[in-house]
Amino acid sequence: MNISNDLESNSSEEMDSWISQYCSIFGHDYFVEVAPEFIEDDFNLTGLSSVVPFYREALDVILDLEPEVPIKVSNVPLVEHAAQLLYGLIHARFILTKQGYHLMAEKYEQKVFGTCPRYYCEGMRLIPIGRYDQTGIETVRLYCPCCNDIYLPSSSRYLNIDGAFFGTSFAGLFIKMFPEIERQCQQRLNKQYELKLFGFRINERAASGPRMKWLRQVPRTKEEIEEFDKCEFELPQDDYREDTERDEHDGSESVMSIAQEEEEQ
Ligand SMILES: [Zn+2]
Repeated sequence: MNISNDLESNSSEEMDSWISQYCSIFGHDYFVEVAPEFIEDDFNLTGLSSVVPFYREALDVILDLEPEVPIKVSNVPLVEHAAQLLYGLIHARFILTKQGYHLMAEKYEQKVFGTCPRYYCEGMRLIPIGRYDQTGIETVRLYCPCCNDIYLPSSSRYLNIDGAFFGTSFAGLFIKMFPEIERQCQQRLNKQYELKLFGFRINERAASGPRMKWLRQVPRTKEEIEEFDKCEFELPQDDYREDTERDEHDGSESVMSIAQEEEEQ
């Protein structure tokens, strides 16, 4: 696979294809080069013709094909723009394939997408993400798998890249495909800054208190993991039965007490 990749990149460099040119533009280093075979398969482009104007022409531009009908000079900028849009949408699909996310993994390893600015994330690498799969809504954001938050790219040169060119699903798939990322997160997860006043911890209910602490708490011991699994995937049976039984017996009382409370108010 590596050999074929090398051959591809070499040949594309020699030909200076539209794809490699586009990806080497300043500020386009988040993009990987989509394999031409992926674009040539119509199945992978399903539905895109209704979203992208000048679809045929744009596709020819991306694949460096001569258009069947010459493009009007006045339409050339529109077709170029459409080609960029189409490439972005194809890119969002390509990075969900094995070849695609492996190419993205190389960039991730090289910290192309940057690292998390949160101190306790200890330089965790970021993953590009779009909050929407539709284009034109929001530019690309960066997701930190450790603090589960998103950030703006540190440089303004990435602020005109559409988030839909990476999509909502990529980050989730990427983390699942590379368990090493989850392991790295586990090492960092429990560290959280706690504000103190003259050495005393601030009450959680105070405005400056450490709220939402539970967000970064993960089960660690065997018992905690079991408890976590139970409350996530099933109702705690014993408690549930007790509650329902109590409701059956005391149903009238509880209704009464609610009515009384309402009256008192
Ligand atoms: Zn983080």
